[in-house]
Amino acid sequence: MDSKQTDWDEVFLTVAMAMAGTSRCVSRQVGAIIVKNNHIIASGVNNTPGAAKKCDEIFPARTSPEFDRNAHHHFSERNEIHAEMDAIGSLLKNGGGADLGNATLYTTLQPCDNCLKHMAHYGIKRIVFAEEYDLCSYSEFMLDVLKQFGIELVHKQIVQTPVIDRAMSEMHRIQNMRKQTQNLKSDLNKAK
Ligand SMILES: [Zn+2]
Ligand SMILES: [Zn+2]
Repeated sequence: MDSKQTDWDEVFLTVAMAMAGTSRCVSRQVGAIIVKNNHIIASGVNNTPGAAKKCDEIFPARTSPEFDRNAHHHFSERNEIHAEMDAIGSLLKNGGGADLGNATLYTTLQPCDNCLKHMAHYGIKRIVFAEEYDLCSYSEFMLDVLKQFGIELVHKQIVQTPVIDRAMSEMHRIQNMRKQTQNLKSDLNKAK
């Protein structure tokens, strides 16, 4: 493919999707990356802070009949950091100094209003997301802020491509490995 034809939005969203695969949230795995001048300067996933117990250690899989969506929602709102905030915060954690002005943030899921206000505040000029989130609703105030700041919010539907297929199968391989490790751990604990 000629470099002029490269669909950079698709490339970076694919990277964000691969990042999402490392999230330990049982409900929605979200990945985000921040790009400046076509270079990735930060990445993030939704998770609990640092070494704190992860969502998948507390809740059963989303597909399990024991999964309680409300209980998870309650837990997540209080304890899980969103991928976009993790990406912004990672710049501080790794020495800081990065200027987010004119950067683009790619995220696998439409950003919530809380993340949106932070992105606007820190100077992100373009936000590209893959999947729409039905629970998303932005205030008139925030829509006005986006307009005032000239922030572009783009919904980019991702069509399956060989690159994405590979990223997704790699993601599932990692998830399966993690599940197997967890099962082994719990079997070991039971055996004790
Ligand atoms: Zn979770
Ligand atoms: Zn958010």
